[in-house]
Amino acid sequence: MGTTYEVKFNNAVTNTDVIALKNRIDQRLAGINAAMSTYLPDSELSKINRAAAGVWLPLSEELYRVIREALAISAASRGAFDITVGPLVNLWGFGPDGRPLQVPDAATIESVRAGTGYEKIHLRDAPRALRKDMDTIYLDLSGIAKGYAVDAVAALLEQLSLQDYLVELGGEVRARGRNAQGQYWRIGIEKPDLDTRTVERVIPLRDIAMATSGNYRNFFYLEGERYSHFINPATGRPIRQDLASVTVLDQSCMTADAWATALFVLGPERGRALAENLGLSVFFITRNGASYNERLTSAFTRQLAAD
Ligand code: ADP
Ligand code: MG
Repeated sequence: MGTTYEVKFNNAVTNTDVIALKNRIDQRLAGINAAMSTYLPDSELSKINRAAAGVWLPLSEELYRVIREALAISAASRGAFDITVGPLVNLWGFGPDGRPLQVPDAATIESVRAGTGYEKIHLRDAPRALRKDMDTIYLDLSGIAKGYAVDAVAALLEQLSLQDYLVELGGEVRARGRNAQGQYWRIGIEKPDLDTRTVERVIPLRDIAMATSGNYRNFFYLEGERYSHFINPATGRPIRQDLASVTVLDQSCMTADAWATALFVLGPERGRALAENLGLSVFFITRNGASYNERLTSAFTRQLAAD
């Protein structure tokens, strides 16, 4: 997944146990990568991406669950979250093929965009399979797979009877129980600055997951314009807006991860209205000249107040 992970827990274990645990976690993550990576040509997802339209392609249980959740969030976000943006992600240089040397022309963007769209994939649950309507359908799970991996590591820890833990992978986290000081685990939401890593606000995590999507670190300059790695599926172009970061709390890190991406794409107005409507716990940081504004949904405020 091109990132790192960190696990903390609050149980007394021997060094040998820690090494064994780390091996189990590494194996679990390698398995998820082997299913969901677009960087590995032999992953289950890469094979599905190469397959032709019109036939049912068998799906592992894991991939089925992630794609089903992705489609549910696509529908709930009116298409803002869309795992079929893969060819656009690649066209703009955020995929496995790297950066483009120039801005793609409008006709190319439009023709690639026409071959995308989450309504062009269909899921079947017995037996589990996926069918594409067009050969161009290429799935990119980068906006949801990290959250899924966090949930998977958390499930593994619980299976091993670890009750007080914090799991972090690529900035997405999930916590349960208490830290060594007997408090809820605490996570700092970063100030959205480029060069400093200072904390904007500290969030107590009470048996919950948290995912953040931000525009301030993963972007590139091309022909004088700044491009983020979030694609607006409606236009086929990277979004340009004044949102700095979106943080979502949810029981499921997979769900939080996908919503953070979806709300980022929707932007400060439409994103906040939808999040409020759906009762999602969300913390928005918007850019305001050189400073930043914080906006919390009522569910997020309640989460903070309950501490
Ligand atoms: P962050 O890196 O800020 O945590 P994510 O990794 O969750 O954000 O999601 C960003 C990735 O999701 C992009 O690199 C891209 O591969 C993919 N992506 C971009 N736009 C969309 C979209 N509209 N819907 C779903 N996935 C997207
Ligand atoms: Mg995401």
